[in-house]
Amino acid sequence: MLIDIHTHKASQHDLKCIQNLHADFGETSSLNYYSMGIHPWYIDASNVQDELSKMKIASHPKNVLAIGECGLDRICETPFKLQETIFLAQILWANEIAKPIIVHCVRAFREALDVFKMSNNIMPVVFHGFNNNIFIANELLASGFYLSFGKGLFNPAMDSVFSIIPSDKIFLETDDADYLIEDIYKKAAQIKNTSIEQLSLQIMQNSKTVFKTNFN
Ligand SMILES: [Zn+2]
Repeated sequence: MLIDIHTHKASQHDLKCIQNLHADFGETSSLNYYSMGIHPWYIDASNVQDELSKMKIASHPKNVLAIGECGLDRICETPFKLQETIFLAQILWANEIAKPIIVHCVRAFREALDVFKMSNNIMPVVFHGFNNNIFIANELLASGFYLSFGKGLFNPAMDSVFSIIPSDKIFLETDDADYLIEDIYKKAAQIKNTSIEQLSLQIMQNSKTVFKTNFN
């Protein structure tokens, strides 16, 4: 089974993926798995507290497997201080309801690590859409965090990074890209010089550890 831990594609009654919701938090189906959170791009200072309350109410059910994506983004318009406040609030919430956190981070890894420290977070953390260098990867791994990879694997510069990330720390995802999860697994297995079967067994194991489900 090929698990896709982060997709924006609309509900397909598919229990092999985690569908991300960044708004309309109430609109879930019991036939899907979800993550929900306030994305830094979509923070609107005038209603973010309302959105946060809605997300909190909607995130209790068992099929909401994670909080996020939430995080920090240096190249979006949202004031950075406000991003940090809303990120921290969501990390604290995830800890309150004991769910893992899926993180969006663009050019703000140092600051993201600082927010995690401030939060006394003890929940598993997955940095999604990872396409950065090995130094950043190592720093995140040293904090015990997981890394999820998607279309970035098709950039040849990622080979040397992905090939040395421990397999028990990786996830794979389609995000909003026009790739099939099969193609992402195929590419990942090729870079890691392993079989798709082996890789998918490992990621199923990682999913059990982080998301507390067998995806079935
Ligand atoms: Zn996403």
